Amino acid sequence: MTAHYQFVILGAGAAGLQAAYCFSKAGADYCVLEKSDSVGTFYKKYPRRRQLISFNRTNTIFDCPKINLRFDWNSLLTDDYSFPFSSITDSLYPSADDLVLYLESFAKRYDLAIQYNHNVLKVSRDPGDSLFQLTIDGRDNITASTLIVASGFGKPFIPDIPGIQLAEGYEDVDLDPASFKNKKVLIIGKGNSAFEIADLALEQSSLVHMASPKAVKLAWQSRHPGHVRANHVRLLDSYQLKLLNGTLDCNVLSISKHNDSLKAVVSYVHADGEQEELLYDRIIRCAGFMFDPCIFDPSLRPHTVLGGKLPATTPFWESVNVSDLFFAGTLTQARDFKKSSSAFIGGYRYNTRTLCKFLLSGKDPDGCQVPASSLDVTSFAALILDRCNKNSALWAQFGYLCDLFIKRGDRYDHYQELPYQAIGEGLFSSEENVLSLTFEWGEWSGDVMEVQRHPTATKAYTNVFLHPIVRRYRYGSILAEHHILEDLFGVYSAEGEQGNVLSRGGLPIDEYHEVQHVRPLIDFLGRNASGSLYHDYLLSLSGETPLELSRADSSDGSWDG
Ligand SMILES: Cc1cc2nc3c(=O)[nH]c(=O)nc-3n(C[C@H](O)[C@H](O)[C@H](O)COP(=O)(O)OP(=O)(O)OC[C@H]3O[C@@H](n4cnc5c(N)ncnc54)[C@H](O)[C@@H]3O)c2cc1C
Repeated sequence: MTAHYQFVILGAGAAGLQAAYCFSKAGADYCVLEKSDSVGTFYKKYPRRRQLISFNRTNTIFDCPKINLRFDWNSLLTDDYSFPFSSITDSLYPSADDLVLYLESFAKRYDLAIQYNHNVLKVSRDPGDSLFQLTIDGRDNITASTLIVASGFGKPFIPDIPGIQLAEGYEDVDLDPASFKNKKVLIIGKGNSAFEIADLALEQSSLVHMASPKAVKLAWQSRHPGHVRANHVRLLDSYQLKLLNGTLDCNVLSISKHNDSLKAVVSYVHADGEQEELLYDRIIRCAGFMFDPCIFDPSLRPHTVLGGKLPATTPFWESVNVSDLFFAGTLTQARDFKKSSSAFIGGYRYNTRTLCKFLLSGKDPDGCQVPASSLDVTSFAALILDRCNKNSALWAQFGYLCDLFIKRGDRYDHYQELPYQAIGEGLFSSEENVLSLTFEWGEWSGDVMEVQRHPTATKAYTNVFLHPIVRRYRYGSILAEHHILEDLFGVYSAEGEQGNVLSRGGLPIDEYHEVQHVRPLIDFLGRNASGSLYHDYLLSLSGETPLELSRADSSDGSWDG
């Protein structure tokens, strides 16, 4: 007998569980199909050395659970914040075993509808039929109106290098420290998994090289949590302090056997075309993972991007070529690739919640309504600053998720945590009065430790540290933008200020926020607190380049963002 569900989630990893929680709370008709006999199987094996790169900061200066999610990158989202990951461990860099325990406890606690040992072998759709047909190993078929693929990376990415089969893979490389003793080791890759293995090899090997065409990108420099994390980089010390190790920016042209060694021919990227033949005892491939579309019928195969690594999706994570096929979890990282956090629990938990809301409202973003009469500019600014102070989704998913405020007649519709790219791709482009709120980093060059700051509201547009930006859209075009002055704690009004800082810029903290954060935002929203909020500020726009106008460092207090 074929069972049918409105929503089928493929995979019980962290993303599948997040989606299941949202559907379960909404009383939706859903199920999760998981090929193994438990949840979170990815973390039973990975990362290979068992230390997560997702932070778990349990002690902060805040006592608000909403805010604290900014520093807790592993908890799944719940309505009442009652089951944080910190209930399992207080380690800042937790063990993957703790995450497995958390995910298992989460699935049980919320009684999620997971069907274990359901390996989906094939996804098809009969011509003329809108339902997905899921063929399951040794079981009856299941049909779904909407399919959410949260199946994680399906296979390692294997670079196209002749002889690459001679290399060991990150997936099963021998981690016994003694196996590196007095060995010359080449690691192909310079991401976190490569450094994870390099850090192990470092202790006993005679030499470690890391090779890939691109230079190492450090997370604390780029601000992308998926770039190389500081807990992995002892090898860089040992390279620059002349311990025979090194990172080679090169293409590996071939690998072959050479007596008892392995020979790698490399061509350097920054060395006037220099090529070398290098001999190693072990070559280890740590080049990442990729989406495996093999379960999809050829007629239904989702388009991919980044050389086939990831599915190509709309801003709302729907396949660009298969309708009603959605993606969740690490497979959603193409649209903020190497920028914010869609690759990680701390990012995709928000994407997944937004996706579920979107699906539950019939693929129509759902806003909550606020009567316009209750929002004069002062209370509107207070509402925006409250979101800036407390929201963790916009903070984690900087430049990627946004809040929108749309004025429609005598009300505002407040949409929370929507994909910001949707605005650029036509969402709400027929609306005249749209305000967006995002968090974003500013541009910088040079040493990230020596960024010149301009700690005043009139220069907030030069801020490099993560800060909120309010933009005014009209019929899909940006008319003006206002940068809210950066704050190391992410607090932009006195109400939310906690901790020991009592004064900044020589002002008591409440006055400081009033001068630097509140008033400039009120000015931006419209200098009159009368009912005609937008009217006033539309009139004050002039010329063809309002953006420049709003960015100007004006000393007369108008358009000072
Ligand atoms: C080495 C490495 C380390 C990482 N470390 C971290 C970290 O510390 N913190 C972090 O937040 N992220 C980390 N990530 C990112 C990581 O990929 C994701 O956080 C996470 O595992 C992805 O979650 P997911 O739910 O999207 O997929 P997964 O956790 O991979 O879950 C997918 C599930 O789908 C099931 N499945 C797959 N195919 C089928 C099928 N055909 N039928 C039925 N079931 C199926 C699988 O069994 C699995 O349970 C790391 C990634 C890598 C590569």
